[in-house]
Amino acid sequence: MRKPVMAGNWKMYKNPSETAAFFSSFNALVAQASHCEIVICPPFVNVPTAVDATKGSNVEIGAQNLYWVKEGAFTGEVSAPMIQATGAQWVIIGHSERRQYFGETDESVYKKTVAALEAGLKPIVCVGELLSQRESGATAEVLKGQFTGGLAPLTPEQFAKVVIAYEPVWAIGTGKTATPEIAADAHIVLRGAVREKFGDAAADAVRILYGGSVKPDNVKSLMAKPDIDGVLVGGASLDPKGFSNIVNFL
Ligand code: PEP
Repeated sequence: MRKPVMAGNWKMYKNPSETAAFFSSFNALVAQASHCEIVICPPFVNVPTAVDATKGSNVEIGAQNLYWVKEGAFTGEVSAPMIQATGAQWVIIGHSERRQYFGETDESVYKKTVAALEAGLKPIVCVGELLSQRESGATAEVLKGQFTGGLAPLTPEQFAKVVIAYEPVWAIGTGKTATPEIAADAHIVLRGAVREKFGDAAADAVRILYGGSVKPDNVKSLMAKPDIDGVLVGGASLDPKGFSNIVNFL
């Protein structure tokens, strides 16, 4: 059985005091949620505050990015061992905003994923098609291409520790959620690619999250699809009550 991951991506929102305020109400609202893993990924500067604020709770903390070199003259970058040393356990890799605005590629996704795993972080690797690619019927090909470039070069042992997030770019921050059927079809394509490369056990075990305008009122129908193993939530993860309603979707 795949345990769902309910993850929040705060993007570039909240400062340290707003971070502390979030957890002072959120932790209690999700304290009974044993059906899933709960992850919040704040901006780097808030990670230590978030780790402190969630000690002893069932909430884990992640970063939103990393650089694959351990240390060096790379101004503005943060490495996987640095993130791990804060007590954070997860990291988002290859989010579409990073691909779109910061030039990330399937090759950098692969390097970052390896770096995360070497530091003991759990990567959430994002894939997803643009609206133009969906409209031209290229969704499956795009997803398989992102899998082939970013994830297929991993060893089976490395791949076993990865969580995939399917995030159709046209659904991120737009209010346009993929229907549960559209999302599930994409998850089936991705799980099929995993099956082909890593075999049945890996395909049955890998958790594939859906992301793109997930809200308290649509999470249940998405989570009802057997191939959807959790959600990656942007805007709706910023409010403690709202995100707790997503976590407690049952
Ligand atoms: C995201 O940032 O990964 C995301 C899915 O954003 P939103 O939920 O706001 O669409």
